[in-house]
Amino acid sequence: MTLSRRNLLLTSAGVVAAGVWSAGPASAAAPAVDYPGAEWIPASTSNYTVSNRPSSYPVNIVVIHVTQEYYRDAIAIFQDPARKVASHYLVRSGDGHIAQLVREKNVGWHAGNWNYNTRSIGVEHEGWVDQPQWFTTQMYTASAALTRSICNRYGIPKDRAHIIGHNEVPGATHTDPGPLWDWTLYMRLVNS
Ligand SMILES: [Zn+2]
Repeated sequence: MTLSRRNLLLTSAGVVAAGVWSAGPASAAAPAVDYPGAEWIPASTSNYTVSNRPSSYPVNIVVIHVTQEYYRDAIAIFQDPARKVASHYLVRSGDGHIAQLVREKNVGWHAGNWNYNTRSIGVEHEGWVDQPQWFTTQMYTASAALTRSICNRYGIPKDRAHIIGHNEVPGATHTDPGPLWDWTLYMRLVNS
């Protein structure tokens, strides 16, 4: 996801007014997450395609994103049926907390490319591509463990051909995760 700063400001106001965050934490009846330790915070059902992966489509790519939004605002966007966007996971910058918003069997709308959406897991990271303070060790470590788990469970090679940036999706108009994303560190952590 990459959204403008204008959108950010508008969304920030909307979140507070709507109290979206209060709806976030999973209840006792919440469905099991695909990644242990993730918090289930469901996206709007208008923002992804129900599917039965990996039977319906193979899963062989992880797409790395940076939100250009605060964690809470990104969740609000994914829960807004008008936005038509949702990633499977969102990692919080400060502590590496992971929210799961879309089940892995379903097709998230995050890559801007239907073919890539059908066969990928989208992992969003809180922050801005031009602000290095968001790229914390906690976020890298937590995200890398998540991506390692995804790769292990679907047999995805842990290399840069299969773990790609949103900017590397064919036809991408988005620049995230941007030049400050430390691919060397990230791939080392994924493979550790
Ligand atoms: Zn993106």
